[in-house]
Amino acid sequence: MVQPRFLILAFPIQGVINPTLSFASRLVRVIAGAQVTFVITVHAHRLMTKSRGAKGTGSATPNDGLSFAPFSDGYDDGFPEGTGIHGRLVEFRRRGWQALADILESGLNKEGRPYTCLVYTMLLSWAADVAAEHNVPAALFWVQPATVFDIYYYYYHGYREIIRDNSKTSSFSLSFPGIKPLAMSLGDLPSFMADSGDSYFVTQFQEMYEDLEKEGNNTKIILVNTFDELEPEALRAVSKFNLIGIGPLIQSPTPTSFQSDLFQQSSQDYIGWLNTKPKTAVIYVSFGSFGSVSVLSKHQIDEIAKGLLEFGRPFLWVIREKSDQGDEEEDDELSCREELEKLGMIVPWCSQMDVLSNESVGCFVTHCGWNSTLESLASGVPMVAFPKWSDQRTNAKLIEEEWKTGVRVKPHEDGIVRSEEIRRCLELVLGGKENAVEIVRNVKKWQNLAKEAIREGGSSEKNIMSFVNRVMDMVTND
Ligand code: UDP
Repeated sequence: MVQPRFLILAFPIQGVINPTLSFASRLVRVIAGAQVTFVITVHAHRLMTKSRGAKGTGSATPNDGLSFAPFSDGYDDGFPEGTGIHGRLVEFRRRGWQALADILESGLNKEGRPYTCLVYTMLLSWAADVAAEHNVPAALFWVQPATVFDIYYYYYHGYREIIRDNSKTSSFSLSFPGIKPLAMSLGDLPSFMADSGDSYFVTQFQEMYEDLEKEGNNTKIILVNTFDELEPEALRAVSKFNLIGIGPLIQSPTPTSFQSDLFQQSSQDYIGWLNTKPKTAVIYVSFGSFGSVSVLSKHQIDEIAKGLLEFGRPFLWVIREKSDQGDEEEDDELSCREELEKLGMIVPWCSQMDVLSNESVGCFVTHCGWNSTLESLASGVPMVAFPKWSDQRTNAKLIEEEWKTGVRVKPHEDGIVRSEEIRRCLELVLGGKENAVEIVRNVKKWQNLAKEAIREGGSSEKNIMSFVNRVMDMVTND
């Protein structure tokens, strides 16, 4: 039998690279003889190679069956000040189209071994057209929950008007066919739908669904970073699409021969520090990796600092620096740093899976990025959900109401979450009362189910195999 050969195209932001690279390595592990070529920008590839510096445990080098194909998106040395995601997507497409076409072409003609399938990440639908030109089937890799995929679908199929008509009614809630939790308020929906000013993403997602539904489209499968037990209904809610849960795709806490970090590891020995703390004593605080969204306002940082100091437990807090993704805001000095550092540790970046899997960590104050949510679930860490934009609000709703593995903060009218509110939520999660006991029970349940999903023969492996069998059939029957 011909061994399958995959091409994976990932948009180079941390929240996309992490699950995609995990998928690539799981693919070569699960499918004997499979080859995966990971297409990535020169800049991201360089950062991934460099990021292990502090820990000195390898680099973005090829693994058995997995190789990297870096291409230039025009930003090899980084992004000029103020380059937003919009500009990056445009350049990525302009240059990526040709790079992808060259690789597909050389697989077919020079190497005489055509690619079996192209897997591309969200907002890169054009890549499916390049694959179609080379007669190669494509699969979309959706790096948010299946529930969010469904909600977007419904939004573009009749629900947009309902949401817009009710956008000023604070008590408004709605439900979508076949997905839980049933009643969603405006604040539970992905931010691009409920807020004004995000029209760029509204258009981008709309184009994605139009492409998926257009006649002759060659994206037959949608791979989702979720697992069957976590979102059973959502994986089947929109019958026109074939959604396959292949997760949870999370990085292994132990070092592997390649790494995906786009940011320099902190030189501080935060793991050594965690190791000195009692079991479940530490609060881990992080707002993810994504540009200005992961950088909080000075007022918000001060409120978190006050809440942590008043709560009085040790904490590890990732405070992202403003300049590393071309953000324009000014740098604000952290008030009471000295006092904070007596109780906790502040780092600009950490190896999150190493932190979450350390037994001293008892709570994750998180922005609810989908990777962070899954990583927390899989590591058995209760959450204080502190969502900011995009799918994070829906993820927070699922965390609090569906999986019941955490509580969600309530911001003040001005959007800032006050220190008292942070303390209230920490108390609910860590206070040892009935609520906390219930959360810990649920956390254990989901941790075990996540483990089941990724064990040998679990749903992740089975579903990856069924995906590969389907594309192999498509290629053979073509
Ligand atoms: N991450 C990390 N160290 C940090 C902050 C984030 O390793 O200090 C990783 C985290 O483990 C996750 C990814 O970066 O895999 C962030 O993805 P997520 O979907 O949670 O949020 P985003 O950054 O896309 O908003």
